[in-house]
Amino acid sequence: MKSFDEYLRDAERAHGHLCAGQILGVRLAMLGLEKLGIDDPHGKDRKRLVTFVEIDRCATDAVAVVTGCRLGKRALKFRDWGKMAATFVDVSTGKAVRVAAKESSKTLARQMHPEIENKNQQQMLAYREMSDEDLFATQWVTVELPPEEFPGYKSDRIVCELCGEGINFRREVLREGMILCRSCAGESYYKEA
Ligand SMILES: [Zn+2]
Ligand SMILES: [Zn+2]
Repeated sequence: MKSFDEYLRDAERAHGHLCAGQILGVRLAMLGLEKLGIDDPHGKDRKRLVTFVEIDRCATDAVAVVTGCRLGKRALKFRDWGKMAATFVDVSTGKAVRVAAKESSKTLARQMHPEIENKNQQQMLAYREMSDEDLFATQWVTVELPPEEFPGYKSDRIVCELCGEGINFRREVLREGMILCRSCAGESYYKEA
């Protein structure tokens, strides 16, 4: 495992700037890995981890940098809940830990550094100094991970009976006897213009 400062440098480079979210995300991910006893996420433990993130904000990029879990590797799962939290699943043991930033940490940052007016600067410093206990709530959880959620899952491609597009990873749905993609089944996020 790299040091906090090394991960922070990597995160800054990947994210494009240094911000409170990078500090929070690096610490959140390092804590999750520590709880699971994963100390080499980019080396020998590379295939041990699946990470669920619950927000698409600055900190999410840092979580991906520290864990090595990326969307394109299917090891990073996004649940759009708008919450500053992530769950780290050790697929070799089935153990999982959820780490969430405490709501009180923002107030605490203000109390720790009232002399800093800029909120990002204030949080950047305070989030470095705060204890894990002040910054995060952690809980052991179980995560049901069906085979098709695993990074290495191989499946035949299914073709949607309406649009003819191929569907991977068992994302097809059965509607009134037809095998459909989620878009044709009515779950689409777009409409034809
Ligand atoms: Zn940022
Ligand atoms: Zn379709």
